[in-house]
Amino acid sequence: MPRSFDVAVIGAGPGGYVAAIRCAQLGLSTVCIDEWKNPQGKPSLGGTCLNVGCIPSKALLESSENYERAAHKFAAHGIKVEGLSVDIPVMMSRKDKIVAAFTGGVAMLLKKNKVASLHGRGTLLRSIEEHGDNNSGWQIEVKNGETVDTVEAKHVIIATGSAPRSLPFAQIDNQRILDNAGALALTEAPRRLGVIGAGVIGLEMGSLWRRLGSEVTILEALPTLLPAADEQVAKEALKIFTRGSGLVINTDIRISGIQTSEASIAVEYVNAQDKEGNVQKLEVDKLIIAVGRVPNTAGLGADNVGLKLDNRGFIEVDSDCRTNLPNIYAVGDVVRGPMLAHKASEEGVAVAENIAGQAGHVNLDTIPWVIYTSPEIAWVGKNEQELKAAGIQYKAGQFPFMANGRARALGETGGFVKVLADATNDRILGIHMIGPYVSEMIAEAVTAMEFAASSEDIARIVHAHPSLSEVLHEAALAVDKRAIHI
Ligand code: FAD
Ligand code: NAD
Repeated sequence: MPRSFDVAVIGAGPGGYVAAIRCAQLGLSTVCIDEWKNPQGKPSLGGTCLNVGCIPSKALLESSENYERAAHKFAAHGIKVEGLSVDIPVMMSRKDKIVAAFTGGVAMLLKKNKVASLHGRGTLLRSIEEHGDNNSGWQIEVKNGETVDTVEAKHVIIATGSAPRSLPFAQIDNQRILDNAGALALTEAPRRLGVIGAGVIGLEMGSLWRRLGSEVTILEALPTLLPAADEQVAKEALKIFTRGSGLVINTDIRISGIQTSEASIAVEYVNAQDKEGNVQKLEVDKLIIAVGRVPNTAGLGADNVGLKLDNRGFIEVDSDCRTNLPNIYAVGDVVRGPMLAHKASEEGVAVAENIAGQAGHVNLDTIPWVIYTSPEIAWVGKNEQELKAAGIQYKAGQFPFMANGRARALGETGGFVKVLADATNDRILGIHMIGPYVSEMIAEAVTAMEFAASSEDIARIVHAHPSLSEVLHEAALAVDKRAIHI
């Protein structure tokens, strides 16, 4: 007899494991099924985020930023560093320890909450009703090599995440042509590093390896980088990232082919603005492909049960993450909306609460974005181009970090904060930031928007001095043209 649960969660990334814990907290018997294996071939919970995404990338970005500070920024503080060097294997091993602590931590949390954990690929087999059983529910096969297990559950939460999108002419081998996993596991900085795609991963990985000594060139198909960001923020980012010996970013290009030889990887491309269509060549030692991610539904058994996918392969869901099938939900990267860990987790919590009869809900309009470049970029809500396209009248207030005492003390004066508010009722519609530690500052903006604040509300809140948060305060004052320090 297959084991039976109230809820089966497929996938143990931030969507799945958080959903499973919340289900268990609410008294539902829960199993969490996940197939991820670490490079040593051992099960490793936490999905993309903990294994090859958020956590390892931020660990390495922090290490490389420390190196960059010591190499280029300490001198201005009168701190001299002689004989500075970087030991990348040590940096990688620190990152691996952080990953191991967190993935092991998820296993511990599941155990503590009495969530059953099964390793293997989960495939939806059939509805139990089809076999004459009065209890509605679903049967799932869990396959781990030759071992096959079957479980039954009344409710299923699919949280199978996403995988890197590949390019037809660039075979990822994670030796020379890399995806995110390969880019986070190099043991030395390549002399010449190419990146295809100036989105979030391209910029974070490009920044990481540039700081560690690589000459980095990024090729981007669109006329601008970071298509999801506010255009003014993207422009400021391009200016700062490409300054001096920074990143080389070529936008508006079309890649026509990639040739690999023993000596190099040659990327051939044409600039869309070049009317003569001259083919240019970028020769690199390693190439990162960062052109977006695709939902993970292979092997899930969508066809077995009639689970509806959209034309891009995402599982179709309503605003409460319900699929077309009764008692089957889907959350995180495998459904519409931004591919972000916190969005996946919050959807997981909301679904668990709805299964338990509560009123779970996620407000997709106030999901914060953070890009961990230097300076950092963060935003919440609508950007200027979206407001213009929707014909919404708005007022904008902006303030630069240059005029902020704490930013001066840090020596990080690039960037600004911009507040966008409704022209008629002053309600905040979006807040956009580029500057130091805006990853932390964005929380105030999210709170304000969740509480339907006006720019006047932020303008009237006392902000500590000297702190970076004063830049948000002044930007809110600037909406009404009354910023003080500019
Ligand atoms: P995933 O984390 O992808 O987890 C899905 C899990 O399901 C995996 O373990 C997978 O093996 C398993 N699985 C798939 N199919 C099956 C099956 N049939 N049976 C069993 N198991 C299955 N987001 C942020 O918010 N902040 C960041 O700083 C950030 N940095 C990132 C950096 C990089 C390099 C990358 C690649 C991503 C980053 N992200 C970041 C995005 C974030 O990792 C994802 O949004 C998040 O992991 C999505 O969570 P998820 O639970 O939906 O899926
Ligand atoms: P992305 O969508 O952010 O960027 C992909 C970029 O590649 C785009 O700018 C696109 O125009 C470009 N591109 C696509 N095809 C191309 C081609 N043939 N030639 C040149 N350029 C091409 O995707 P990503 O950087 O792969 O990241 C995937 C997702 O992972 C992100 O959207 C984000 O949701 C998540 N992520 C988040 C964080 C974070 O929160 N800090 C970090 C990393 C990843």
